[in-house]
Amino acid sequence: MTTLLVRHADLLVTMDDRQREIADGGLFVRDGFIAQVGPTAELPSHADEVLDLRGHIVLPGLINTHHHFYQTLTRAVPAAQDANLFNWLKTLYPIWARLRPEDIALSTQTALAELALSGCTTASDHLYLFPNGSRLDDEIAAAQEVGLRLHASRGSMSLGESKGGLPPDSVVEEEEAILQDSQRLIETYHDPQPGAMVRIVLAPCSPFSVTPDLMRQAADLARHYGVHLHTHLAETEDEEQFCLQRFGYRPVAYMQELGWVGEDVWFAHAVWVNEAEVQVFARHGCGVAHCPTSNMRLASGIAPIQEYLAAGVKVGLGVDGSASNDGSHLLAEARQTLLLARVREGLRGFSLSNDPNRRLMTARQALWMATRGGALVLGRPDLGSLEVGKCADFTAVRLERLEYAGALHDPLAALLFCQPLRVDYTVVAGRCIVRQGELTTVDETGLVERHNRAARRLLRGE
Ligand SMILES: [Zn+2]
Repeated sequence: MTTLLVRHADLLVTMDDRQREIADGGLFVRDGFIAQVGPTAELPSHADEVLDLRGHIVLPGLINTHHHFYQTLTRAVPAAQDANLFNWLKTLYPIWARLRPEDIALSTQTALAELALSGCTTASDHLYLFPNGSRLDDEIAAAQEVGLRLHASRGSMSLGESKGGLPPDSVVEEEEAILQDSQRLIETYHDPQPGAMVRIVLAPCSPFSVTPDLMRQAADLARHYGVHLHTHLAETEDEEQFCLQRFGYRPVAYMQELGWVGEDVWFAHAVWVNEAEVQVFARHGCGVAHCPTSNMRLASGIAPIQEYLAAGVKVGLGVDGSASNDGSHLLAEARQTLLLARVREGLRGFSLSNDPNRRLMTARQALWMATRGGALVLGRPDLGSLEVGKCADFTAVRLERLEYAGALHDPLAALLFCQPLRVDYTVVAGRCIVRQGELTTVDETGLVERHNRAARRLLRGE
């Protein structure tokens, strides 16, 4: 048995159902799970390891619900800087077709390092192309070295250009092979237990890159094993047109037709939805991964997050792939969530409205989505808040610093309203992945060097 005592945090934000925020707070952790939460005075005084977090705010580890780690190798590519989704994809597919297994590992470590330094403890990744012998196993092994929890989505593309899809035929796979590999991955890695470090998700990429048949078979397979389903949906107006023309349905109705609705399904983006479709998600328990930076970057639109929350739809946050963000800073994403929700209210006439029931999104709501919301979306009741019995996943930020000067009357709000920064501690299952602002499991300088070398090679076409 190993124990960890966290004590004297200036403020410990629990994100529990009572939204308790505890002054001079702490945690007592036993074997990776929280055994006690409360004021420091009420906690044991000894443990194998003691973290004195005087001068810090402590909050639950943030949860990232949508990413494409491999895209960290193709950030800010000149020809894809100013394009909409479909043109951005067509520019990048041929570069991605050169990825090798070692690139998958490298980009996984880079993305997870960035996530850890922004307070993230659990990340979902969506890998949907496997060129040159790449496998999801490459990503899982690399993630285990970093030490964050991973929901690895076995993505796929099967509808190439010659069959009316968007991706070139060179990056799509045979459907039979996709399903066989999905089954192998579930049987090899999926851990359904509380405290799981790795779970597998089945994730055909998008309506314009897979067939209805693959969607149905992936759903059958996922439900047989009890794993979650994930895909991109209603991201852009182009996609809506594509679905109407090819399938005769709007994207959400197409998902209903395929049986792709339920508590075990979450969609990335879900921007182009109407009021009735918000209700469809609510009724079936579908989750949404909100990716505000990507939606702005690609001029995709603004997702109706306030409507989702009002209807009881589960909403988590995602930084999305690093070719459309182009960063993996989850705290920054929570800030973008707050700000973009307010832009939307402005466009809907907030300044002219005297309706007292119309409220702007708050810092606490944005942080709730980044923690509890993410846990709900991924189906992880063992994550998302600092409560007895839950995983000991948390992050801590030092408060006496330039960026927060003048904001310490509300330290939690400072996290969201002030400039996003690197966190000082990130702890997963009681183990420090970031300590005093430095990664403990990754050599950051060496990683950046290797990563840039690989990115140069990919862009040069070697
Ligand atoms: Zn995406």
